[in-house]
Amino acid sequence: MASMMQPQIILLKEGTDTSQGKPQLISNINACMAVADVVRTTLGPRGMDKLIHDDKGNTTISNDGATIMKLLDIVHPAAKILVDIAKSQDSEVGDGTTTVVLLAGEFLKEAKPFIEDGVHPQNLIRSYRTASFMAIEKIKELAVSIEGKSLDEKRSLLAKCAATTLSSKLIGGEKDFFAKMVVDAVIAIGNEDRLNMIGIKKVQGGTMRDSFLVNGVAFKKTFSYAGFEQQPKKFLNPKILLLNIELELKSEKENAEIRLSDPLQYQSIVDAEWNIIYDKLDKCVKSGAKIVLSRLAIGDLATQYFADRDIFCAGRVAEDDLHRVAAATGATVQTSVNNVIDEVLGSCEIFEEKQVGSERFNIFSGCPLGQTATIVLRGGADQFIEEAERSLHDAIMIVRRAMKNSTVVAGGGAIDMEISRYLWQHARNIAGKSQLFINAYAKALEVIPRQLCDNAGFDAIDVLNKLRQKHALAAGEGALYGVDINTGGISDSFANFVWEPAVVKINAINAATEAACLILSVDETVKNPKSESAQSDAAGMGRGRGGGGMRGGRGRGMRRR
Ligand code: ADP
Ligand code: MG
Repeated sequence: MASMMQPQIILLKEGTDTSQGKPQLISNINACMAVADVVRTTLGPRGMDKLIHDDKGNTTISNDGATIMKLLDIVHPAAKILVDIAKSQDSEVGDGTTTVVLLAGEFLKEAKPFIEDGVHPQNLIRSYRTASFMAIEKIKELAVSIEGKSLDEKRSLLAKCAATTLSSKLIGGEKDFFAKMVVDAVIAIGNEDRLNMIGIKKVQGGTMRDSFLVNGVAFKKTFSYAGFEQQPKKFLNPKILLLNIELELKSEKENAEIRLSDPLQYQSIVDAEWNIIYDKLDKCVKSGAKIVLSRLAIGDLATQYFADRDIFCAGRVAEDDLHRVAAATGATVQTSVNNVIDEVLGSCEIFEEKQVGSERFNIFSGCPLGQTATIVLRGGADQFIEEAERSLHDAIMIVRRAMKNSTVVAGGGAIDMEISRYLWQHARNIAGKSQLFINAYAKALEVIPRQLCDNAGFDAIDVLNKLRQKHALAAGEGALYGVDINTGGISDSFANFVWEPAVVKINAINAATEAACLILSVDETVKNPKSESAQSDAAGMGRGRGGGGMRGGRGRGMRRR
């Protein structure tokens, strides 16, 4: 009798929630599709923006996939993967963040019926990987190089690339103005790899067109003391000294204990304090510098001292600004004023303190080392300028990528249609199930042109049929045709300069496929009770099967099919 009683095996802690198998997979796919639906409408030049406000009362208006995904605060464990690929696309190539999420969502959507029919996910994954590999090879083959052109030619080509990126943004109306600015900034920093060498400063007020580019460094005037007004505000070819020390009268009794036996000795201590600071100031002046910047405070005594000697000074300069000045002018930041030799001083052609809108700006231009550029952005609302900054960031990344890799492909869905056709054609020669899976992958790629049409209010079915027909033409005649955003028909995207760097597409397809495969390969989620209590407030978290919610009830649950 006793042998009948099997001991129960307890593997997981009590209260552990596991969900597994097909339903779990389907639920993960649903969650990802719901996420893709959120960013769906932002794709392309006619895409809509999202206004997101959080519980702290911050509002953000954005069209950028990565920004939206970040702010959405998604808690679904599988859907989080999409947030990650959007982020990584943003940091890797800077553009194509909506594309990557949409593609991943679409790959999964196409996979869903197969999973429901009992296809093993590994079969799908294998075919998807093959398809992705082929797609990327095809893109590389179709990419057009802009290498070997003269600088002027390159400049105008790069500007067109930047304009394509900007055309889908809030500042799309002024895309040519900003595209030129972005290209100039990127060319200015040359081969410098550190992106923070392009500063973007935001000044509220004025119109977008009042934005300008400084070939050098610009930053907002720092806090200053009395005496500052008497300092000169413009120099030609000044020497520049950068410091990381305080220039203030310090009472030494804070640093050391001092015992006095005679009140008269007190004076000598005060004198010593004055001597220390005067000594420092004197050394600054003797160095021959006309401009003294410090990361730490420059007090009133120093300010007046410099003013009397026609020297300009600014304290509490932000660290990245100071680094940019150092990179641009060739100065080295000093931590002591002893032994300031000429080599550590920087120089520039013109230094000026200028009024920009309601702010005063310190501007260093004509810097010998180049390597830096600063864009001063103007505009009405704060949210507007911030979105403009994000858009410029996208454009800057694109231009840098295009300059480094210098191959582009036709945008507007042209490249996507072309790969899709290529995969369809290839699939016809495959025997077996994987033909279906590759077809599914090919179909998923059509989401880009379809969504571009949907977002512009065009008849997607009509446009897609036209595109399919064009791309089916022999000898790749129609390979460059994409959605024409102006007429609602189709046109040669390449000839219309709707270009995208090949690397954006390659990275997007790669990342989206990997994410889709990753989600397809998960068939069990285990949630232990401890982590659950930690995020018990995470409302909408899909417990077990059928979960597909997002935090905060933003009105989107599971996608309806
Ligand atoms: P992402 O975050 O993925 O970059 P965007 O909103 O920037 O998303 O949209 C990019 C898509 O819009 C690309 O597929 C690009 O080819 C397309 N696109 C951009 N400008 C145009 C245009 N003028 N005509 C047609 N398509 C365009
Ligand atoms: Mg873009």
